[in-house]
Amino acid sequence: MPSEIRRIFDPHIHMTSRTTDDYAAMYDVGVRALVEPSFWLGQPRTSPASFYDYFDALLGWEPFRAAQYGIAHHCTLALNPKEANDPRCVPVLEELPRYLLKDGVVAVGEIGYDAMTPAEDSALAAQLELALAHGLPALVHTPHRDKAAGLARTLDVLRESKLPPERVVLDHLNETTVGPAADSGCWLGFSIYPDTKMDPDRMVRILRVHGTERVLVNSAADWGRSDPLKTAHVGEAMLAAGFDEDAVDQVLWRNPVAFYGQSGRLRLEAAPPAEQLYQGNSVLRGGE
Ligand SMILES: [Zn+2]
Repeated sequence: MPSEIRRIFDPHIHMTSRTTDDYAAMYDVGVRALVEPSFWLGQPRTSPASFYDYFDALLGWEPFRAAQYGIAHHCTLALNPKEANDPRCVPVLEELPRYLLKDGVVAVGEIGYDAMTPAEDSALAAQLELALAHGLPALVHTPHRDKAAGLARTLDVLRESKLPPERVVLDHLNETTVGPAADSGCWLGFSIYPDTKMDPDRMVRILRVHGTERVLVNSAADWGRSDPLKTAHVGEAMLAAGFDEDAVDQVLWRNPVAFYGQSGRLRLEAAPPAEQLYQGNSVLRGGE
């Protein structure tokens, strides 16, 4: 029997911005679980209340939608780095603790730096403290511009926090940042995009050098050009490059389960068989 991808856990994908066709296609390639981090929706928010409706959707509506397609949905909640600079948004930090108590929340995130401002410094430090206080891991993204300096400053703030490195994933890494990130003891996150950042073959080369321990691979698919099947493409590229099925399963399933499992809140009960999935949609269709 040829080697194949057994199951996929996408540890970072913004399903709010994706279609039901995406859910169906993800199920078909093996995606059975995912984590949706709260993020910047593109349109600036004008009040903290706008976050609360979004958080409620990540805890209620989106898991319901995912379940119709046989996929277990979890989320991470936070004030995102970009909106940490907007005084209209910062008060969300006062309400965040009561959301972090909810069952579907498996980490604080995504947090980190965007433009590396003092406002981002304080939002990052405050939210690392919240993660520690709630016994949750943290999803820390590294900035898209000026990556090396952004990572160095992120690692400084992490060292000042009491959150242990094994409870932190540093995301959007690439060849220039993977070395120092690996030395920090944090988990290593890689976002695979169609035409920027990492692609599947570059990812395979990194796995050859750094191994498969503590590595998370995600599609980070959102409202921009992105592809929710990139996790599967990495699995295929790994198999083509000679990694065995077990190594693929470690990267695409067991690693994200181990990282987010630190929350004690993963819900990975068996998905219903595919034949049953596309029928219970009357509630969703009613919303059209
Ligand atoms: Zn993201």
